[in-house]
Amino acid sequence: MRCQAHGEGRAFIGRVCLRHVYAQPLGAGSLATHAFRVHYATALRDPSPQANFGSMNRQKIAAIFQRLHDADPEPQGELDYISPYTLLVAVALSAQATDVSVNKATGPLFALADTPEKMIALGEARVRDMIKTIGLYRNKAKNVIGLSEQLIERFGGTVPQTRDELETLPGVGRKTANVVMNIAFGEPTIAVDTHIFRLGNRTRVAPGKTPLDVELKLEKAVPTKFKQHAHHWLILHGRYICKARKPDCAACIINDLCEFKAKEL
Ligand code: SF4
Repeated sequence: MRCQAHGEGRAFIGRVCLRHVYAQPLGAGSLATHAFRVHYATALRDPSPQANFGSMNRQKIAAIFQRLHDADPEPQGELDYISPYTLLVAVALSAQATDVSVNKATGPLFALADTPEKMIALGEARVRDMIKTIGLYRNKAKNVIGLSEQLIERFGGTVPQTRDELETLPGVGRKTANVVMNIAFGEPTIAVDTHIFRLGNRTRVAPGKTPLDVELKLEKAVPTKFKQHAHHWLILHGRYICKARKPDCAACIINDLCEFKAKEL
C-alpha cells in the first residue's frame, strides 16, 4: 500500500497509514491512545512490509532463533528424570520451585518410586516427607499420588501423550502438559513459564498479557524448524541472561535484535 503523504511500504491499520494515526492528538475519540502510540511507534520504526503491530517482524524472530540455535544446538532442560512418568512428576513438583530444589528431592524419591505403582505403595505421607523442601509440598504430594492412581486406572500405568488427556490428571495444567509433550514425546510445544513470559514481552517476540497469549503468539511466530527447542532456548536465556531483576544485555547474543526499550548495552 502507498500513503500519499508518507510514501510506499509504511505500516497500515486497515487503510489508514499509521503515521497519520500516530500524528493524531491524544484525547476522547482519538485512535491514538498512549498504549496505541507505544505499540504503533514500534511498527513505524520498522517500515518493512512485515511490520507486525506490537510484536517483532518475522525476519528478526527467525534471526533470534538462529542465534540461539547456533549457540546451543541441542539445549537440555535442567530437571532430572528417567522416564515419562518421572518427568511428569518432576514437572508437577516444579511449579513455583526451582529445578535445583526439585532435583534434590526427586533423586531419593525416584530411587524408591519410579513408577505409578511404586509411588502409590510409598504412600502420600512418605511422599510428602520426601518432598517437604519444595514449596506447596502438601498439595503436591496429594497430586503425585492422585495422578499415579489415575494413570493406572485410566491409562494402563503409562503417561498419555495428548494435552487434553494430560490436563485431566491432578496437578497437571497446560504448562506441565506442554513440557511433558515436548521433552518426553518430542512435540513442538512451548510451555510458557515466568521466564518465557518475561522474554516474550521484553523482546517483543511474543508480547501478551497472559501466558496463554504468549504461548499462542510464539506458536505462530517461531519458525517451524526451531519450534522443538524454542522452549528450552527461551527458558535458559531467561534464567541466565535475561534475568527478571537485571537482564545482562551486554552479554546477550540477541541484544541487537531485542526490542526491549530499557535494554542496557
Ligand atoms: S537485550 Fe537484554 S532485555 Fe533483550 S533479550 Fe537480551 S538480556 Fe533480555
